[in-house]
Amino acid sequence: MKPKIAVDIDDVISDSTETIRLVVNNHLGIDLQPDDYRSVEADYWGYYEAVWQSKNVNVDYQEIEERLISKTNNHENMPLLAGAEFALGELSKKYSLILVTSRKQEKFQKSTDAWVRSNLPNLDLEVYFAGHKKDKSKGELCRDLDTKYLIDDNPVHCESAIKNGVNAILFGNYGWNKTAPTGVIRCESWPDVVDLLVNERAE
Ligand SMILES: [Mg+2]
Repeated sequence: MKPKIAVDIDDVISDSTETIRLVVNNHLGIDLQPDDYRSVEADYWGYYEAVWQSKNVNVDYQEIEERLISKTNNHENMPLLAGAEFALGELSKKYSLILVTSRKQEKFQKSTDAWVRSNLPNLDLEVYFAGHKKDKSKGELCRDLDTKYLIDDNPVHCESAIKNGVNAILFGNYGWNKTAPTGVIRCESWPDVVDLLVNERAE
């Protein structure tokens, strides 16, 4: 049986922050740039609020969330992150892949499943929901599913994996993940992940 890898969705396979930037710009008639959403260094939770505060922009996040749900339903408007589709195809030759997201279950579950089926039609990916507030942590879920790796851009989820005996790859180079928790492997892009897990560059 192939070893299992759990992959996060937002800012790992989907270009979520870019989508939020465009939704907010459009909603408020402003012109924040991609770099505005990367240059602030702040914690993952509350990161967007920190960005908006730094720019003196008032955003009602509830309104933005409603718009995001329609964006994720409208599949063309939530793009995949560069290299994600190719990399998942490569990984799937050697590993069994699942997706794990902390998107709020009732609000986002249907649109998330639809987005995955529409954007990654050639991969059979089951979506699990964990890590939102009092839910089971992603690390606990990965442990229970006997997962070898978690790939996630949130240092807190990576840390929960390590605590539960699961290897963790901190993905990307974002304002919210400048510091990698102890024991976590950092990969800044999908080619790095493929190098590590498929070509076994550094295991
Ligand atoms: Mg994420």
